[in-house]
Amino acid sequence: MRDIILGIDLGTTNSAVGTVDSGFPILLANEDGKRIFPSAVWIGRNGEIEVGAAALRRRTIEPDRVITSIKRLIGRRADETEEHFPVAVATTSNGLPQVLGKSPEEISAEILRELKRIAEWRMGTTITKAVITVPAYFHDAQRAATKRAGELAGLEVVRILNEPTAAALAYGLDKLSEHSRVAVYDLGGGTFDLSILEMQDGVFQVLATHGDTRLGGDDLDALILRRVTERLGIDEIDSTSRVRLMEEAERVKRTLSENDTAVFRVPFYDGARSIEETITREDLETIAAPWIGRTLRHCRQALADAALTPEDLDAVVLVGGSTRIPAVRQAVADLFKREPDVSQHPDEAIALGATIQGGIMNGALRQIILLDVTPLSLGIETFGGLMNVLIPRNTTIPCKAGEMFTNAADGQTAMRVRVLQGEREMARDNWDLGDFNVGFAPAPKGQARMGVQFKIDENGILEVLARDVSTNTDTIVKLGNAAVNVDDEAVEAMVSESVEHAFTDIAERIFTEARLKAEELLPAVEAVLAQGLVRDDERVEIEAATAAVKTALTQGAATPLKTAVQRLDAATETLAARLVEQALDEALERGMNHQ
Ligand code: AMP
Repeated sequence: MRDIILGIDLGTTNSAVGTVDSGFPILLANEDGKRIFPSAVWIGRNGEIEVGAAALRRRTIEPDRVITSIKRLIGRRADETEEHFPVAVATTSNGLPQVLGKSPEEISAEILRELKRIAEWRMGTTITKAVITVPAYFHDAQRAATKRAGELAGLEVVRILNEPTAAALAYGLDKLSEHSRVAVYDLGGGTFDLSILEMQDGVFQVLATHGDTRLGGDDLDALILRRVTERLGIDEIDSTSRVRLMEEAERVKRTLSENDTAVFRVPFYDGARSIEETITREDLETIAAPWIGRTLRHCRQALADAALTPEDLDAVVLVGGSTRIPAVRQAVADLFKREPDVSQHPDEAIALGATIQGGIMNGALRQIILLDVTPLSLGIETFGGLMNVLIPRNTTIPCKAGEMFTNAADGQTAMRVRVLQGEREMARDNWDLGDFNVGFAPAPKGQARMGVQFKIDENGILEVLARDVSTNTDTIVKLGNAAVNVDDEAVEAMVSESVEHAFTDIAERIFTEARLKAEELLPAVEAVLAQGLVRDDERVEIEAATAAVKTALTQGAATPLKTAVQRLDAATETLAARLVEQALDEALERGMNHQ
């Protein structure tokens, strides 16, 4: 019998688990008949644990012992934590977040352990394998941390799958005709992604993906609460009251998806005061407009990345609980100029897709190959602090790319390989994924050869190989678990910053490249001038070109420096050619004299 592979949607707000049973992908219900479980963990004072609805029920009594939205912390550093994380976040000595003495992986593992338990109870057998989904925008550290959470829960994670890709499988988009293109709009509790997929030779290609790991329904709850407290002039809210008020904001939001008005009502929320405020659907639409607008910007960016217009798409599908909001559906319909497909249960589509993927992997379902893309460019730092891209943004994975580098100084015995992720021209503006030193045999400047290869496996985990060509020694570093070294700013910020700074970035790259060339040329030119081999007419031009380079260097302007360096290069090129010719003539002459 083939091993069962679970399909798991480990969501910010809710989670679900499924498996293929008798050839059908199904989601598994718990003892209460529920197929969707809150991603909540209660940790008692003596270390007792409860997960799901049972954990949430304890929130009114012990709000600071019930952890929700742990996905927002997984694979991140403590200094990147959220303003409104519901429970106090501590920092370990190595800068990682901890909640109630546990790491985000350990807390996520509790949710996964519960899902595994439900599945084993339903299927009546031990299960050890799973496919787990993550937002398309999760970077290496977040993917690796999710994988570790699975391992802590006793699950071998056979695939980390992008959520929109899972959704595409659930919608049966593989049944569309060749070259059909589909957009998957996924707005959940804590994250947003828009992915554009294309069917080619019966295979899914992800053409582009864009999103924000900090944009979801939770933010809208906070905006609703802010509107209510501002209207009523309430400025101080303690953490216990806040939990109750946020729950009410969420309830009001859901009600307004069905009704035209809802009453925000919390009696004695702080023991003394009460709130009762009517909110209309129109109010909600006003509050939500900028929030929806943020998702639309990502949609436009993804379309631009894929070089497509809305008319090029054959379908738009909605997933994630927040796509139940009528204003969201309308905005998506307006932007993509078509009615979105809402045939799937928005909360179940991703777990179902993960289940289908599991079924494909163990042979229980027909094979479809899925290809994902890199959300941001990957590269290393080179001379002058420049970013050298090895794998560009939106490259289909799995993938491999390599390049040859040389030493910057004579006799150098080690090179630092600094791995970067991002869209900016200068290394310092990109995210540092980690660095390591590679030793090599000393050689004159520019003579040592080091090959650097990046490999991204099907789980999106990056492995870097550095090879000293003279000794054939390889250094291999897996960066999948480099959480401490990852600077996790929102991907959205990275992309929009790169657009915003495009002109200054390019100017700095041109200046740096010209400066490096100038630093190489100037000492060589001075040495030749000192030898007195230069004719007067050449000397005049070379000295003028040298002076122009020096002035441009002090002025710091890119184009004048580039022009001056080109002039100096041209001036020395004729000189170099003449010197070679002269040396040849002399050799020939000497040869003739010896005859
Ligand atoms: P997910 O992360 O996909 O489970 O989505 C959860 C988010 O969907 C939460 O922010 C919920 O408040 C939101 N949500 C669920 N149902 C509704 C609804 N009927 N109307 C508006 N938002 C909803």
